[in-house]
Amino acid sequence: MADLRLQRNFGIAAHIDAGKTTTTERILRYTGMIHRIGEVHEGAATTDWMEQEKERGITITSAAVSCQWAFPTDKGTQTPDTKKYYFNIIDTPGHVDFTVEVERSMRVLDGLIALFSAVDGVEPQSETVWRQANRYSVPRIGFVNKMDRSGADFLMVVAQVKEMLGAKAVPLQLPIGAEDNFKGVVDLITMKGIIWDDATEGMTYKEIPIPADMQAEAEEWRQNLIEAVAEYDDKLLEKFFDDPTSISENEVHEAIRKACIDLSIVPMMCGSSFKNKGVQTALDAVCRYLPSPVDIEAIKGTDPSTGEELVRKPDPKEPFAALAFKIMTDPFVGRLAFFRCYSGHLDAGSYVLNVRSGKKERISRIMKMFANKQNPIDFIEAGDIAAAVGFKEIKTGDTLCDENHPITLENMFIPEPVIAIA
Ligand code: GDP
Repeated sequence: MADLRLQRNFGIAAHIDAGKTTTTERILRYTGMIHRIGEVHEGAATTDWMEQEKERGITITSAAVSCQWAFPTDKGTQTPDTKKYYFNIIDTPGHVDFTVEVERSMRVLDGLIALFSAVDGVEPQSETVWRQANRYSVPRIGFVNKMDRSGADFLMVVAQVKEMLGAKAVPLQLPIGAEDNFKGVVDLITMKGIIWDDATEGMTYKEIPIPADMQAEAEEWRQNLIEAVAEYDDKLLEKFFDDPTSISENEVHEAIRKACIDLSIVPMMCGSSFKNKGVQTALDAVCRYLPSPVDIEAIKGTDPSTGEELVRKPDPKEPFAALAFKIMTDPFVGRLAFFRCYSGHLDAGSYVLNVRSGKKERISRIMKMFANKQNPIDFIEAGDIAAAVGFKEIKTGDTLCDENHPITLENMFIPEPVIAIA
């Protein structure tokens, strides 16, 4: 049984052109190819990766792609405490026309990286996605991308997130250098500078003392960060007034995590996915601050015959309940129904009840999409996301469940034609 606390189901939401594709590519490349855990998959070198991707042409447009991340580390290098985290990255389409699709994905993810362009800041689609994330109470981390571009301004974007989106945006970093000269960040938790190593393409980093001309500004923003999170953490607040130097890094992380998960703050980071600076640091923040499936509320649904409210906990021992959120056709596998398993356990080859159609269907295979391969898996359990092969009739928003424990999970009632295969 997988440790659900090490699972993260998250999306990357952005206005078109802010760099979502580039960021996703960086994540998949590093998690899938030269993962810090030390696995090198299928002997593929980093340089082949784009070529392979073109051939397969699927992963990045996949509704959910899975990868692993090693955390915590010491400046990117593993330590005895390092664990393997499991990520499912759920696609949240960036184009306004796909608002309904964004809504569907919001439904199944537990957290979001809200990506902004450091030049363009909050744009119309960022506002739309933000409102949808509010509706589904999705905790967020802000990542201000394109820090290497001319006119990039991290703190301007932080101010916009506050003013235009009404969020308590709290910087965790300050950029060192700007535009062409963007070198790294000051980490306001460790109060050290971070310079990502070019040799490892940003996988590891060096720590440097805070540049002298930034010291005062860094102290001010550090104070701002501690004040902002202490408001939600009594113990931290007490230390803040008694002896701020006694506050440990872990206490700050824990306070940020709590405030982020209960939607009180949005931690803000910055980088350049193009130059691959800061993407890895943002993934560490996904592990640190975004919720796991056990940190979110158990899903509610209704008994299809009585209308009575039912609850399913994220526990493999509960009856199986899942929600189909995207139907896609894959050139290699055929029709795939992406679903999130909220509770229970499902073996490949077994039957599920589609509550809407009232039909039992056999799931011949369960697939996971990775950066450079699609893997059939033997079973899926609570908290995880995968794609099912073998459905005759399914549509987005359908609940799939154990026939002896029928449940309808909250449905969004998005009109869509039923896909039937003859
Ligand atoms: P998407 O529409 O959000 O998926 O954006 P893309 O990832 O396709 O990026 C849009 C354009 O911005 C592409 O030309 C990228 O190469 C470029 N881009 C993305 N991230 C960065 C960055 O951090 N710095 C710079 N200078 N360009 C970037």
